[in-house]
Amino acid sequence: MTLAVINPATEQPIAELDEAGVEETDAAVARARAAFPGWRAVSPSDRARLLRRLATLVEEHSEELARIESQNVGKPISGARAEVGMVAEVFHFYAGAIDKHHGETIPVAGGVDLTFREALGVVGLIVPWNFPLNISSWKLGPALACGNTIVLKPAELTPLSALRLAELILDAQIPEGVVNVVVGPGRVVGQRLVEHPDVAKIGFTGSTEVGRGVMQGAAGTIKRVTLELGGKSANVVFADADLERAAAAAPYAVFDNAGQDCCARSRILVERSAYDRFSELLVDATRRVRVGDPREESTEMGPLISAEHRTTVASFVGGNTLFQGETPDGPGYWFPCTLVEATNDDRVAREEVFGPVAALIPFADEEEAIHIANDTPYGLSGSIWTENGARALRVARALETGVLSINSNSSVRPTTPFGGFKQSGFGRELGMHALDGYSEVKNVFVAT
Ligand code: NDP
Repeated sequence: MTLAVINPATEQPIAELDEAGVEETDAAVARARAAFPGWRAVSPSDRARLLRRLATLVEEHSEELARIESQNVGKPISGARAEVGMVAEVFHFYAGAIDKHHGETIPVAGGVDLTFREALGVVGLIVPWNFPLNISSWKLGPALACGNTIVLKPAELTPLSALRLAELILDAQIPEGVVNVVVGPGRVVGQRLVEHPDVAKIGFTGSTEVGRGVMQGAAGTIKRVTLELGGKSANVVFADADLERAAAAAPYAVFDNAGQDCCARSRILVERSAYDRFSELLVDATRRVRVGDPREESTEMGPLISAEHRTTVASFVGGNTLFQGETPDGPGYWFPCTLVEATNDDRVAREEVFGPVAALIPFADEEEAIHIANDTPYGLSGSIWTENGARALRVARALETGVLSINSNSSVRPTTPFGGFKQSGFGRELGMHALDGYSEVKNVFVAT
């Protein structure tokens, strides 16, 4: 079987690849298994050196990688460059983290107690199409740092950057078999990785629905899983906030990556006394978002990933549209920036749209803001805008979500933990926390 890879901004094929099945997946697992003893035995300083070399190669090839990602995902080139920059930072961070993730000695009677951090073995990494290279690096960095070997399955829609990264991994002299990329359908290749007896752990990012199946499939072999799933995050704007700043930032918290972002603050909760003023400012700011050719330096939002996905996104927009922007004519899976007025019971406020659609929801006071923000099965990210520091912290503690920002909408840094509460998943990526998910604690007692 062959797989045609499409540029969503032109609807034209940009590559044709052989599609892997169960046999190729098993072969990749076998290569990773064979490479494991050697990779685990590489000294921490040499492993760090190899990861640092990979980070440097990513920097040296950053423009090429950004162009691949921009063409395959339809993301604006400026955003793609920033993402590739983060990929290099992530590998630099984990190169430096290797010898800082160590065991303990614990006081016990009759001897000495030590803990070791052991590698798991072969890990399967399953990645979505919205941030293909970035999310791959969040998993590869800690998995490699801990001494695991890897089978990486990118989404079928966006495999090109992972394939190029695999070449750079070999150029960095990370041994053959340590990282294996398999391109094939999730229900075949992904499912096989989830059930394979020689795979010790699955690091999965994707929808809550598929994540549920991954967790069920992993139960058969008691596989470890990390699940980074969907979100329906709230951007909570209090009347005492700097409304101009909050409104200027809000569009980019939903429309970045055309809304195809698990952290999208797609519910904008606004205190009723500031609602009219904030709405005006938000419409003005949304009107200014530059939608168009991803190759243009000034473009801020590109198309959606596919025609099928555009149909899903469109199904969320009906009455109560406050504002809808423009899109280019001609080919491409375009969808305009859209603001709708809603209640938290409306479908647009309950389900993940994964497109450039934001729901504005008024609230009466702090208590109601917390109630509405938490009234969702998800709990990934969110923002709080207020000039009252005590309130900011009070609300931050009350929100059931893994990643919050105060007077900002940023969620992700190489050095800080990222992951969800509730049905947004469990386990943490990035920062030192991610290393815990790719290693096992071994406890050893020595009688003295
Ligand atoms: P999917 O869950 O459909 O796919 C994610 C990955 O899983 C893809 O590689 C897919 O392969 C694979 N897959 C599909 N079916 C199976 C299966 N049965 N067994 C194993 N693997 C399978 O998500 P999308 O790609 O549509 O991505 C969008 C979703 O990802 C959104 O819900 C979003 O919120 C979430 N997401 C979460 C993030 C987070 O960190 N929390 C970050 C980014 C996205 P293929 O596509 O090749 O069939």
